[in-house]
Amino acid sequence: MPSSTISKRLFVFDFDWTLIEADCDIWVAENLAPDLAKQQGALIGKVLWTELQNLLLQRLFERGVTQQDLEKTLHQIPFTPEVIAALRLMKSQGAELCILSDANTYYIDCILKAHGLEGVFTKILTNPAHFDSQGRLHVARFHGLDKEPHNCPLPCQPNLCKGQELQKLINSQNWDQVIYMGDSTNDFCPSTRLQSRDIVLARSDLLLEKHIKLHLDMVKAKVIYWQSPADVLSITQTLLNVSITADSKIVPAVPSVHLEEVSVSL
Ligand SMILES: [Mg+2]
Ligand SMILES: [Zn+2]
Repeated sequence: MPSSTISKRLFVFDFDWTLIEADCDIWVAENLAPDLAKQQGALIGKVLWTELQNLLLQRLFERGVTQQDLEKTLHQIPFTPEVIAALRLMKSQGAELCILSDANTYYIDCILKAHGLEGVFTKILTNPAHFDSQGRLHVARFHGLDKEPHNCPLPCQPNLCKGQELQKLINSQNWDQVIYMGDSTNDFCPSTRLQSRDIVLARSDLLLEKHIKLHLDMVKAKVIYWQSPADVLSITQTLLNVSITADSKIVPAVPSVHLEEVSVSL
């Protein structure tokens, strides 16, 4: 159990290409209907992603793809042991973990369950999905058309401003530190919501890095760039000041390990 001397940390994660080594929407299309995946590629930017996914799910249903087929495909998505170990370490050290994703509730729940991670996250904020009585999966906008538009001036999609949702999580408690981890354009807005004591863990060479470097004045938090799941684990150990021995016991890290020594490419 965490003692009162342990900092109250909130970790918030994007899902695709952050926790898992794929984009789950694209994975489903490419594995179950490669022809539709190609068509979908041509529509990116023209149709809202969530609506495109809902359309794809309709087509998959018409082709006879079942919930079991979806589940089997989702279970094959790579979720590395390093990232899983990092998540378990954060949790064991008393941190609160949340997911903020443009995927959907069914895909994320299904993937987390496959890796025994269903109890790890306090909140999963993403587009709601449900199966109808015929077994067709529907996915809807997180920020629905029944609400006022969020009008975020940053590059957020109409269905989800991750910054707005992160802000609600930040405001919900007195955190000592908030850590946001992501890779893409829609992870930039939440990165701007953090303060100087907070950390952005941005995946190297992808769009989040590009946006941060173009607008350095908008990001107050320290930015640590990471490339591989192994980096995620070592950064986590350094941040939490613990290391994992070969037999998976958690022991205090040697005092010489400092945040600044983590390999960064800024
Ligand atoms: Mg992502
Ligand atoms: Zn936004």
